[in-house]
Amino acid sequence: MTPVEHADVVVVGGGPAGAACAAAVRRSSPASSVLVLDRSDFPRDKVCGDGIAPEALDVLAGLGLDTAALTAGFPAVPRLRLSSPGGTTVERAMHRPAVVMPRAVLDGRLLDQVLGRGVRFRRHTVRRVTVRPTHVDVDGRFTAGVLVGADGAESVVRRALGLGVNAPDRLAVAIRGYAPELPGQDGVQVIATTPLRWPAYAWSFPLGDGRANVGYGELVAGGVTRAELVEGLHRLLPGVEPSGLRAHRLPLSTGRPRLPDGRVLLAGDAQSLINPLTGEGIFYAVLSGALAGAAAAHGSRAGAVHRRLLRRRLGAHLRASGTASRLSRWPAVMDAAVRAAAADQRVFDDVVALGLADGRLTARTLVGAARRLR
Ligand SMILES: Cc1cc2nc3c(=O)[nH]c(=O)nc-3n(C[C@H](O)[C@H](O)[C@H](O)COP(=O)(O)OP(=O)(O)OC[C@H]3O[C@@H](n4cnc5c(N)ncnc54)[C@H](O)[C@@H]3O)c2cc1C
Repeated sequence: MTPVEHADVVVVGGGPAGAACAAAVRRSSPASSVLVLDRSDFPRDKVCGDGIAPEALDVLAGLGLDTAALTAGFPAVPRLRLSSPGGTTVERAMHRPAVVMPRAVLDGRLLDQVLGRGVRFRRHTVRRVTVRPTHVDVDGRFTAGVLVGADGAESVVRRALGLGVNAPDRLAVAIRGYAPELPGQDGVQVIATTPLRWPAYAWSFPLGDGRANVGYGELVAGGVTRAELVEGLHRLLPGVEPSGLRAHRLPLSTGRPRLPDGRVLLAGDAQSLINPLTGEGIFYAVLSGALAGAAAAHGSRAGAVHRRLLRRRLGAHLRASGTASRLSRWPAVMDAAVRAAAADQRVFDDVVALGLADGRLTARTLVGAARRLR
């Protein structure tokens, strides 16, 4: 019989949330043992737009990770072009450039750096999680003082906590592939929206090697099929011929569950932390993972501590992005916001911060958009 393996903290999932969590445990309690379980060996692909907000790299740098090594070989992408459902377009330099790089590379490098800090890794697909008074049991193979579910959009750990999946109007689905970069798109992240099947959008994010990550997504509530996702992509990015198309679900933060107290925590997509305006999730994943790692030292109180840390750090932003997402259900509001961003760089910066990081719904954005409502 295989002996049971114990760690003070077991992290299910070695993606951005799990890797940041493991790094945070080693940083805040160097004596704690940490074990990461993932069903895949790394590097592994993850269906994503591959756009990395600079704030995500800030979180990783704050954990002592070498972000220059993480992103080496992939040029910064300084500009963003956004078209509204009504056809207004704004293109401006972002306050700070983003990075676009394949997730297989980013996640592989990230986990490598974290494993270099004394974190253990086992390839294992988690199926059953049982909470006991003094520890958590995983498949009868592993025990943990605290268990962190960083196992993505279809989280098994979340199910074990009795938390359901997001409702269909708080759950998106998107398809992505790789295609030759659009002409004139060097250094520009392109986001194109449409009034058809709104809210829906397509993107083309340049990788710097002549290729771009292209994709299209919309809410599950609309009953979209795979063929309709592909059709949406072609409609919004005419002439694009992507290969390697794969779809994946995005649990939006507007549907995030209240986390229970106790020894089992969630982070990243498992916690429904995806920006409802843009589908951005890597910044939230590393931030919530880092906070889960800090909370893990509190044993049976870790869940309550994690909830408090997350509310303090991200609560106001999550309320703002939730409100903005409700307002943006009217395409006219999106049109007005894009017109305001086209008129004022500061509004553009506020909108980018709200959609990609931890920004707020500022008075100048609200006033600027209200003045331009038609
Ligand atoms: C089409 C699409 C485009 C996107 N574009 C962007 C973008 O451009 N920028 C951005 O910031 N975000 C984007 N996102 C969101 C982003 O991909 C996620 O928010 C991010 O990957 C979340 O990281 P995570 O660590 O929580 O989960 P994941 O990256 O999904 O990692 C979860 C890990 O858990 C493992 N796992 C799952 N189940 C088990 C199990 N039972 N046992 C063991 N291991 C398990 C998986 O193998 C995986 O390695 C996009 C999402 C989609 C679907």
